[in-house]
This record gives sequence, structure tokens and C-alpha cells, in this order.
Amino acid sequence: MRALVFETFGGPLTVREVPDPAPAPGGVVVEVGASGICRSDWHAWQGHDPDVSLPHVPGHELAGTVAAVGPGVARWRVGDRVTVPFVTACGRCDRCAAGEHQVCSRQTQPGFTHWGSLASYVALDAADVNLVGLPDDLDDVTAASLGCRYATAFRAVVQVARVRAGEWLAVHGCGGVGLSAVQIAVAAGARVVGVDVSPAALRLARDLGAEHTVDGGDAAGGVADRVAELTGGGAHVSIDALGSVVTCEDSIRSLRPRGRHVQVGLLPPAQGRPAVPMDRVIAAELQVLGSHGMAAHAYPELLGLVAAGRLAPRRLVTRVLGLDDAGAALAAVGAAPGIAVVAGS
Ligand SMILES: [Zn+2]
Ligand SMILES: [Zn+2]
Repeated sequence: MRALVFETFGGPLTVREVPDPAPAPGGVVVEVGASGICRSDWHAWQGHDPDVSLPHVPGHELAGTVAAVGPGVARWRVGDRVTVPFVTACGRCDRCAAGEHQVCSRQTQPGFTHWGSLASYVALDAADVNLVGLPDDLDDVTAASLGCRYATAFRAVVQVARVRAGEWLAVHGCGGVGLSAVQIAVAAGARVVGVDVSPAALRLARDLGAEHTVDGGDAAGGVADRVAELTGGGAHVSIDALGSVVTCEDSIRSLRPRGRHVQVGLLPPAQGRPAVPMDRVIAAELQVLGSHGMAAHAYPELLGLVAAGRLAPRRLVTRVLGLDDAGAALAAVGAAPGIAVVAGS
């Protein structure tokens, strides 16, 4: 098959022929219809993820068609259209038994623990636990974003932060996951402030319903003060959707007393650990929460809102590329606003 491969961390990203994957017991191989390019693919390429070994094929945000089924799979057949959360859970540990598949203690992740979906085919483990069937009218390009960024944002806003109508929500970093959070929060009736350093990203945030935007590179007095001004004392919920020392601290400082911070953007230690203002956390009784993808069993609520037209993930896809252009797009993650999706290998 054809795949996007890197042999060294930060080295060339080249498309070449590699062996086809075979399904593991309980697993499947999916013919990739579309695969998003996400910031965590960039982290994998940069060597920020200890699970990645070389040579490596990135890609974890996918939709496609089941092409081969391993022994012991009960629910899926060749030809089924599916997506999958980027955390593929074991289905058997105590966390899975509690329904918390997104923090499974024996999880695998395509594009990290094994070769990923920027390829013609990808192997996925524990298919009965992890695959999510796609409705006929949801195309692969749109569905691909449900494997990581859109579903991650949905869980962060709706299930972890439990944002309520009328609350102020600040989104720090309006890339793929941030813009998804803007759209989802607006649909939930929240009032949204988008923060980014890119005017193009802020324009998209406003198009998706953000009431205010703050240019992080140009906020006199600092981002947190500006958010406090715009929201009458600070946001109820604030999300670091980028994952950086600056956006993490800005997000926590943007909150009003008793506010909830949700960390969604990855913070690999190689890029420095953020200085979390714990003095502020205790004095204002803030909640600091983490959110890590979304379990397959939680997808029906999201798919229902998409089918009903309440959520429109396709609006976030700003570029559809071929696999031959995926390397350049991965190396330039964050340079262009919105979500880039590779379709066709
Ligand atoms: Zn498990
Ligand atoms: Zn991702």
C-alpha cells in the first residue's frame, strides 16, 4: 500500500510503498477513505510521543470501509463504513468496565502505538469495542474529523465542562479542535470568546458564532484581562485547545471564580511544562480538568446532533488534499486555519 512515512523524528515525510497491514485477533483493517491531519500527528513526527517507534506512519483521525476482519470480531463485516476514536480501548480493563474507554489502561492508538491512517489501509484493535458505524449520508471527509478533533471538543465542552446555555466559554487556540469547540459551545447556547494569534483563525471563529475574539498577539494588558473585560468578570469555562505553556496559563487566568478549565491540547514535556497558577486555583475555587478523546459508546449523541443539523463538522474542513500533499501539510500544521483532510491515497 501507499503510506506517508518518516524514518527520523523531524526528518523527511515521504509517500512510498509499504507492506499492507493484517488484522489482529479481534481487530480489523480499514481501507482509509479520509484522514485528517492533526497537531498530534505533528507531535508524533517531532518525537514528542514516547509511543512512536521508527519508521512510522502517522494519522489517527479517520473514516473508511472495513476491508478485512480478524478472528473473534462479532459486530463488523467487510464493507461496513466506520470511524474510530483515536484511543482504541481494550474493552476488558477496570476503566473500560466503568465505561471510561478514553482512559483505558491498555489502549492502543493508530498513528502512535502502531502505523496510522495517512495510508491506504490502517489496522485497528478491539473492533467490537471501538468502531463506530457511519450513517450513509455522512461522508468520509466529514466523518474523519469525528475520530479526534471534533469528538474531543464535543466531550470537552458537553461531557467534561458540562457547559450550560448562557455561560461564557473562552477557547484558547482556534485550530481544528478549538474551532470545533466554538461551534459545539454555540450550539449548546454558550457565549463564546475565541483567542488566537491568527486573524484568519479568529475570522473563522466569528463565522462559527463566537461573540468576541481576542488577538493573543495584540491583547493590551494580556489575554486573561481582555477575556475578563468581555465576559463581565471571566469565563465560566475556558479551554486550552492548543496545548502550550502560554495558552494553558492564559486559560486558567481567564476564569471567573468557580470556573472550569479544560486541558485538551497536548502538552508534551519536551515543549516545557506550564506554570499552573495554583494560588488562583485555590483562591477562586477553580476546577482544572483533563479531556482525552471520547469513547465509541458516547458517539450516538454526537452523531444524532450532526444528523439533525444542530452540529456541522463539515464547515470546519477548509482543505481536502491528496496523500502526496500530506507531508507538507503535516509539517506546516497550524499555518493555515481550519481542518485539513487527506482523501484518496
Ligand atoms: Zn481497557
Ligand atoms: Zn488528533
